Amino acid sequence: MPGFEVFGNEERAEVNDVLESGVLMRYGFDAMRNGHWKAKEFEEAFAKRMQVEHCQLVSSGTAALTVALAAAGVGAGDEVIMPTFTFVASFESIMAIGAIPVLVDIDDTLTLDPVAVEKAITSKTKCVMPVHMCGSMADLKALKRICDTHDLLLLEDACQAIGGTFDGKPLGSYGDLGCFSFDFVKTITCGEGGAVITNNSQFKTHADQYQDHGHDHIGKDRGAETHPHLGYNFRISELNAAVGVAQLRKLDDILNFQKKHYTTFKDALQEVEGVSFRRIPEGGEANYSFLNIFLPSEEKAKKAHKALSEAGIDGCFYWYTNNWHYINGWEHLQDGKSLGTLPTAVSTALEKLKNTDFSASDHWMGRTLSFLVKIGWSEEEVRSRAHTMKQILQKI
Ligand SMILES: *Cc1c(COP(=O)(O)O)cnc(C)c1O
Repeated sequence: MPGFEVFGNEERAEVNDVLESGVLMRYGFDAMRNGHWKAKEFEEAFAKRMQVEHCQLVSSGTAALTVALAAAGVGAGDEVIMPTFTFVASFESIMAIGAIPVLVDIDDTLTLDPVAVEKAITSKTKCVMPVHMCGSMADLKALKRICDTHDLLLLEDACQAIGGTFDGKPLGSYGDLGCFSFDFVKTITCGEGGAVITNNSQFKTHADQYQDHGHDHIGKDRGAETHPHLGYNFRISELNAAVGVAQLRKLDDILNFQKKHYTTFKDALQEVEGVSFRRIPEGGEANYSFLNIFLPSEEKAKKAHKALSEAGIDGCFYWYTNNWHYINGWEHLQDGKSLGTLPTAVSTALEKLKNTDFSASDHWMGRTLSFLVKIGWSEEEVRSRAHTMKQILQKI
């Protein structure tokens, strides 16, 4: 996920446009801004690239999830189904609006298991939030069927899978809403930034208002605008949006490089007995930001991770115990460690986490290794890394 690897003169030129006018805000100051509307420009280009009607830029991926939930009317006491393997932003955004995170097992796609999702639905469920972790996607067809049957929202977290597709549609555009992050380690970056995409014009209007204190954005006098709803401030700045304008133009080249490097790694590891690959649901194409493999046992996965690190293979992740992307690492969540008092319904739900059986998730996560695909590597480097990875795994 290498947006920062390709930062260059194109990004600098876009930022300089903003610096020259000095209008760092995305709204107003029409006379001063030399016709530069970077946030608006990015939104239009991003909606087009993602083949949707609407895009709303915001200040981060976490903000995008929060704004998407709020825009769709999810609120206090509503349950949102999310996976055990994800970034902490999933439960942070759900809890930010007073809703209840319901953690559900993953399967060999490393994303939500549709069977487990269906079992977790209650009368309070409002939304299913699959997270397309490490470059590949959830079984969106199965999840959509479940959402349609139970009248639930399908909100895709595509922060780690920008550019991947399902049934020919860009990830994030398949569900009711899709969210993206442009933080510094994502496939394209703004420094900090995020986006919500949708084809639902009411959700777009709500997102537009909610991320800017409920402003209706009608007319030219910001101070005189009305406020149809309560909101918050999740605005992106023009400086950040300017970086994104340049990065988006580089997305397809980045994806091509990732695919090439990923294929070299996969071809090499295919020959190793005992190594199998994460399942990519039928109809899906990854964005190739990570290669994800399963080892035959937890013990072997741990051993391999250690040996690979010692051999200088950086960007190899063992999420199960070495990171905070899996429920194992979220003690603060399981203990409900909030600075202030949590809503009772939320703390009651969190208390149950420690006694919930997530062995189905452990079964996959305990054996998973993920290799980050960078694009700065030369072909020679990629071949030599692939060779080292293969040799080490063969030994184990
Ligand atoms: C990065 C990320 C986020 C949050 O994005 P920020 O811009 O860092 O707030 C949310 N979900 C996933 C899966 C992510 O990887």
